[in-house]
Amino acid sequence: MPTTTDVAIVGAGPTGLVAACELLRHGIAVRLIDARPEPSAHSKALLLWPRSMDVLDRLGIARAAAGKAIPLRRFSYYSSKRPVAHIDFDAGTFPQCLPQRSTEEVLTELLHELGGTVERGRRLVELDQRPEGVRLVTRDADGETRTMTAGWVIGADGAHSTVRDLLGIEFAGATYPNTFMLVDAFATARRRGAGGDLLARDIAHYYQSPGGVLVVVPLPDGRSRFFVNAPTGQPRASLELLQDVVEQRGPGGVDLADPEWISTFEVHHRLVTRMRGGRCFLAGDAAHIHSPAGGQGLNTGLQDAHNLAWKLAAVITGRAGPVLLDTYHRERHAVARQVVRDTDIQTRAWLVSAPWKVRVRDVLLRAADATGVLTRRYAPVMAGRRITYPPMLRPPGRRARPHGGVGAAFPAGLPAAGQTRDGYRLVTVGSGALAGRARAAAAEWPGLVTHHALDQARVPSLPCAKDGYYLVRPDGYVADHGHPEDLDSVHALLAAFHPARAAVPTPTSEEHAMTTATATDPDAGAAGHDGPWKELGAELEVDTRDARSWVERIPRGESRPFHTHHRPWLTIVVSGGTAQVSDAEGAEPEDVELVTGTVKFNPLPAGGSVRHALRNTGDTDLVLVAVELGAAGDAR
Ligand SMILES: Cc1cc2nc3c(=O)[nH]c(=O)nc-3n(C[C@H](O)[C@H](O)[C@H](O)COP(=O)(O)OP(=O)(O)OC[C@H]3O[C@@H](n4cnc5c(N)ncnc54)[C@H](O)[C@@H]3O)c2cc1C
Repeated sequence: MPTTTDVAIVGAGPTGLVAACELLRHGIAVRLIDARPEPSAHSKALLLWPRSMDVLDRLGIARAAAGKAIPLRRFSYYSSKRPVAHIDFDAGTFPQCLPQRSTEEVLTELLHELGGTVERGRRLVELDQRPEGVRLVTRDADGETRTMTAGWVIGADGAHSTVRDLLGIEFAGATYPNTFMLVDAFATARRRGAGGDLLARDIAHYYQSPGGVLVVVPLPDGRSRFFVNAPTGQPRASLELLQDVVEQRGPGGVDLADPEWISTFEVHHRLVTRMRGGRCFLAGDAAHIHSPAGGQGLNTGLQDAHNLAWKLAAVITGRAGPVLLDTYHRERHAVARQVVRDTDIQTRAWLVSAPWKVRVRDVLLRAADATGVLTRRYAPVMAGRRITYPPMLRPPGRRARPHGGVGAAFPAGLPAAGQTRDGYRLVTVGSGALAGRARAAAAEWPGLVTHHALDQARVPSLPCAKDGYYLVRPDGYVADHGHPEDLDSVHALLAAFHPARAAVPTPTSEEHAMTTATATDPDAGAAGHDGPWKELGAELEVDTRDARSWVERIPRGESRPFHTHHRPWLTIVVSGGTAQVSDAEGAEPEDVELVTGTVKFNPLPAGGSVRHALRNTGDTDLVLVAVELGAAGDAR
């Protein structure tokens, strides 16, 4: 094995496997290590929700996974054995039931096809970050230690993550006081009709009672998963104990036999405070763990990996600036926080025993059932169809609230969604003139953006009914949407995250006016002055005739020195917070709020320049992209 690699992935569970496959698909060198000598033989996570199936589809293995799975069409909820609510899933929301072991098998087959391998029996024990990369020390099962150097590290090493511990990242949360148990076993009705639809192969059941919860999920091999909170004073699971609990809490008359897996475990709800430490990222259970309620754990990890991998690949190949990686925590931490919160609410609802709380829960469930709100509203949430990331950027002059599906997945099933694997798709709906302009705009980002015209009549599920465009990211999420007059703003977004790929960008009308003014005004500019990036010690990421761009990363508590702008510029707030701006040495600083995703145009006073300094007063790092506009020349 080479001792240097682009990305070292620690942990070959579903999260690490997806990350490895996606990176290999982009031609990135990967080493994937796992402490276990063999993959886990247990069924563990069962549900694959549609958003995760989309990810597997993009990897080309959704069909293989679905071929081993069984679809679930309904979740039924009971209180003291009486039905109180149900959720019906449709073609766009139903989960596939596939034991984690099989999901990992499908992913491992793909990994091998892509030329990858899992280095098993190899445990990460030390990690040392340096500016040029990360040095990892591993220990093999036979005790031998080895070192490797990686440009980047993905910690996908599960709930007890070594990467997280070595980075010193807090895993805030708690452990539920209850012990939980499960058995995967065959179930048969003791007499004709016993058990009701408990034995149906496409329904999951949630029996809630003051004594505790019983969850029953059918498995593809004909067995069912029986999951319970342990009865008081019963610390260890056995088939006999679980048989008794199923009899007490379920419909009765069902016998369990031939168990494949019996387990006793604790359930936690924890979330890291940050999903990145320098060149190391945390993904999957290493970053968030929660109750199995709703079956979201594996799904969230798989989507973390998918979100991160294309960004890392783009940065490693020089297609994107490192600033793109700052969006990983921002996008995925919010999703994980929501999942931890939702599953906590569900778990507490399962376990209520005080009579008044049971009544409140049941009234709420019945009301939600009667109005169909669970099926209508909650099924798409579980399916992952409501995941929305904050806007990557908010171009100047555009509406404050994103619309047109910005931040959400581009509707699945459209031709463009499957074809955005390696770059952005600029999808247009509307006139030939708009399509022509979009084609020209895409041509300014060769190798990064391709244009695709859609016929509105054939895609009624688009989030905006008007003519316009959608800039779809390589992971299928909408980065930007607008109407024909907004089209130029795609350049600002792409320049912010992909500065090195910037061709000479088409100036927006505002930029165009300024460019023209500076070119024709002999007094514009400031001959002989250094550009502000030099005073700041920053490297130029874009250096074209019309624009120069650099990244300003200001750790919390730190300041940027005084520097002078001799040309108007845009400030793109990639990661915001609060700051104090001083206009002159010794002057009273002004408090400002820098809102993530906003873009500010900074004009110059007539014939003058702007000199200022800035101090980060917030508790997170500030990341700003500055784009100086106007013809290059004497100002440099
Ligand atoms: C009973 C049960 C039921 C569940 N049901 C569901 C469900 O229905 N749906 C759902 O989405 N989720 C469910 N989950 C959760 C799901 O199993 C996890 O969320 C999922 O396994 C997380 O995947 P991961 O790849 O992030 O971590 P893991 O699967 O834990 O993989 C981490 C890997 O890292 C390796 N590793 C650890 N430390 C090191 C080290 N120092 N060096 C090298 N390798 C290391 C480990 O050997 C392991 O292989 C369930 C979990 C349990 C226990």
